[in-house]
Amino acid sequence: MSDSAPAPCPDPDPDPSALRAILKDPGFCRYSTGRVAVVDWDAGTGWSEPVIAPYADLAMDPAALGLHYGQAVFEGMKAFRAADGTVSLFRPDDHGRRLARSAARLAMTPMPVELCTRACAALVAAVAHWVPGGYGQSLYLRPLLISTEAELGLRPSRRQRCVILAHPADPCFGAGFRPLSVTVATDAVRAVRGGTGESKCAGNYAAGLLTRTEAQARGYDEVLWLDGLERRWIEELSTMNVLLVWRDGDGVRLTTPPCDGTIVRGLTRDSLLTLAAGPGGPAAAEEPTSLDALLDGLRDGRLTEIAACGTAGVVVPVGRVGTPDGDLTVGDGTEGPVTALLRRTLLDVQQGRTPDTHGWLRPVPPADANGGRRP
Ligand SMILES: *Cc1c(COP(=O)(O)O)cnc(C)c1O
Repeated sequence: MSDSAPAPCPDPDPDPSALRAILKDPGFCRYSTGRVAVVDWDAGTGWSEPVIAPYADLAMDPAALGLHYGQAVFEGMKAFRAADGTVSLFRPDDHGRRLARSAARLAMTPMPVELCTRACAALVAAVAHWVPGGYGQSLYLRPLLISTEAELGLRPSRRQRCVILAHPADPCFGAGFRPLSVTVATDAVRAVRGGTGESKCAGNYAAGLLTRTEAQARGYDEVLWLDGLERRWIEELSTMNVLLVWRDGDGVRLTTPPCDGTIVRGLTRDSLLTLAAGPGGPAAAEEPTSLDALLDGLRDGRLTEIAACGTAGVVVPVGRVGTPDGDLTVGDGTEGPVTALLRRTLLDVQQGRTPDTHGWLRPVPPADANGGRRP
């Protein structure tokens, strides 16, 4: 994800020309829409209805369980504007289901999927004028669920708050989709089977951040994580899944590591595999790949492309892989045709240029603006 800090928008309702200028070049979440959706949970009273509130600091007891023991999970999802002006959330229920699974893994109380989608839709409707419509652009939503009960003993919280942020966004590595360089993590481990690797929980990112920061100091964009047990199998990047494109006779074959508990089950990954399985698409399979097989494939030219995929970055090429024995270039180091085609195919569905045959888009009617109470 981008290094630019989200700046709370000084003016949640800029005049139309100022807003147009922002939406032309929003960066990745450089501007806040100035509003959030809030849903609270209390063991006694259950879930509250979503409230649309001004973007502001969170007031929390310093003994809040989520701050000390890491009960904090999040999602990243997007709303897109089609050419006809319609604004739609992309796979909101699937994001809500994953948020619920992440929460359950941390002994938190999962938010009902329907409530999560309704809160996101209410927020999108309230800030619909902030949804950009340029190629690859979106409104990025970040639902965070955190335990807020004050308690220094270790136990599940009886209070939680869900706050959903919304920021207009270009894809997080920039709309140019320049190739990334990645380096293989040889010492540190992001996740082990039985741990929390599959959850989008805050602690996972903290665990990987030192390695990622050191990699960036050495000139790489990202870390390619290996499995924690054998240190042999390719898993994923810190915030994105990986897809490998292999030469296969006259065609190509797409593979991605299987999700067996240590890899986030990316919805972008799933969408791309589903789209690839359509008519005329390449063969695609979930299949373990060892680091040795990946490096051999790069050396002998059978592995022609590596793509990274996730909601924030969409689909980006990996152009260079760093190993202890030196760097290898992927193809000629620039974006390959399959990576470009996968991204175009996905964005065409998300932005309404091709039919949504999988029912992934959830239109947000402007009338929903009243679905979340304004303060
Ligand atoms: C969010 C995330 C992904 C990508 O998931 P999407 O649903 O495609 O956004 C992949 N890996 C990690 C570690 C992630 O946090």
